[in-house]
Amino acid sequence: MTALIWFRDDLRISDHAALSAGTADPDGIVALYVLDEDSEEVRPLGGAAKWWLHHSLERLAGDLQKRGIPLVLRRGRAEDVVPEVVAETGADRVYWNRRYGSGRHIDTRLKQRLREEGRDAHSFPGSLLFEPWTVQTQAGGHFRVYSPFWRACLAMPSPPDPLPDPESLRAAREQPRSDRLDDWDLTPKRPDWATGFADAWEPGEAGALARLERFLAGPTREYAARRDFPADDVTSGLSPHLRWGEISPRTVWHRALASGADVGDFLSELGWREFAWHTAFHNPPLHRFGLNRQFDAFPWKDPDAEQLRVWERGETGYGLVDAGMRELWGTGSMHNRVRMVTASFLTKNLLMDWRIGEAWFWDTLVDADEASNPFNWQWVAGCGADAAPYFRIFNPATQQKKFDPEGHYVNLWAPDSVMRPEIVDLRATRARALAAYDTVRHSETAAPPG
Ligand code: FAD
Repeated sequence: MTALIWFRDDLRISDHAALSAGTADPDGIVALYVLDEDSEEVRPLGGAAKWWLHHSLERLAGDLQKRGIPLVLRRGRAEDVVPEVVAETGADRVYWNRRYGSGRHIDTRLKQRLREEGRDAHSFPGSLLFEPWTVQTQAGGHFRVYSPFWRACLAMPSPPDPLPDPESLRAAREQPRSDRLDDWDLTPKRPDWATGFADAWEPGEAGALARLERFLAGPTREYAARRDFPADDVTSGLSPHLRWGEISPRTVWHRALASGADVGDFLSELGWREFAWHTAFHNPPLHRFGLNRQFDAFPWKDPDAEQLRVWERGETGYGLVDAGMRELWGTGSMHNRVRMVTASFLTKNLLMDWRIGEAWFWDTLVDADEASNPFNWQWVAGCGADAAPYFRIFNPATQQKKFDPEGHYVNLWAPDSVMRPEIVDLRATRARALAAYDTVRHSETAAPPG
C-alpha cells in the first residue's frame, strides 16, 4: 500500500498531518509537489513568491532526502497531474493538508474522483489555527469584524498540540520521474533583482524555526510597544515562513505560549492572519471584489502610468513611502506599518484603485498570500468589511515623525528622498479623496434598503 503525499503550501516535515498519516503505509510514500500555473482557480504566483518557492522546495527536497524520500516535482494542472502520478505509482492512499483559497474546489473534485476510483483520499487541517467554517457567530454565520471573531476563536478549544515528528518515513520502492527544479525557472536570471533577498531571508523549515526561536528569545519584550517602528527589528519576520507553511501556526502558537514571554499581542497578530483567511474563505476571490459593494461605484482616477511608476520605484518625495517601496524591492518584504502608509498613499493620495497596488504587492512580496494581501489592501482602502474608515487617511509625513522620528529607516532605504520633489500635495489630495468618498456615501444614502 503506497501513500501519495501531496505537498502544497505546507513545505515542512514537522507537524505535517498528511505526511504523518503516510507513516502507517508499509509500502512507503511518494512525496509530490505540483507547480500548477494552468488551473483557473489558482492565482499565478508573483515573481518574489517564485523566488521563495524555489528555495523552499530545495530545502524541503534536502530535508526529505535525509530521510530517504525523494521529492517528486511535476508541472501542470493539479487535476490532471495528481491522478497521473496516482496511476503511475498505484498509490491507494492520497493525503494532503487543506488549503482555503479558490484552489480548494480543485481538491474537492479530486477527492471525489479518487474516492470513486476506490482510493482513500483524505485531507487534513494544518495551515490555520481554526478551520474557517468552525468559527461562527451566534446566528451561525461568519464574522465581519475582527474583535468578536478573535474573541470567538479564543473561546474555542485551544488549537491541538503540534504532531510529533514522523520517525519511520519510508520511500515507496518505485518512484515516478521528477522534473528538475532548475528547469522550472522560478528564480530571476537577467537582471537578477533578487540579490538582496538571500541576505534578508533563509527560506525553509530550519530558517523558520530559527526565526521563531530568535523572536521568542528576545524581542517579545519590546513587541507591544515597538512593533510599529520600522527601524526596530522587533517583529517575528515569520510571515513568509507561515505563508509557505514552513512552520505550522500551531507550532508558533504553542511555542510562544510555552516560552513564558508576554505574547498576547503577538498571538492576536496571528489572529489577523486567521481573520484574513476566514474572510477570504467566505468571500472569494478577495482580490477582485471589494467586500463593501458600495465601493464598486468609487470614482477611482484613471491610473496615471507615470505616478504609478514613481510609487513602485519609491520616488514620490515622501520619505516613508519611498523607503517602504524600496525595502519591498530590495528584500521582498516591507514593515507592516509602512505597508499601511504606502497603500494609503496609492489609494487615497493618488486615488488609484486598490487592486492596482494589491497586484504590485502580489508580484513583489515573498509573503504574498491570497488572503492577507487583498484583505489588508481592502482594509486600508476602506472597502473591507472591517475596514479603517475611509476618512482615516494616513499622512506619510506625520507617520514618519511618529514612527521613524530619528529617520533611521528612511535613511537606510531612501536617503535621497528629501531631495526629490513631492509628487502630490498631501492636503489637496486628501480633500480630493474625501470628496470622492462623499459620492459613494451619497450613493449609499440613495441606495434602496436591502
Ligand atoms: P509579526 O508582527 O511578527 O506578526 C506575526 C504574524 O502574524 C505574521 O508573521 C503574520 O503571519 C501575521 N500578521 C501580522 N499582521 C498581519 C496582518 N495585518 N494581516 C494578516 N496577518 C498578519 N501579510 C502576509 O502574510 N501576506 C501578505 O500578502 C500581506 N500583505 C499585506 C498588504 C498590506 C497592504 C498590509 C497593510 C499588510 C499586509 N500583510 C501581509 C500583513 C503584515 O504586513 C505582514 O504579515 C507583516 O509585515 C509580517 O511581519 P512579521 O512576520 O514580522 O509580523
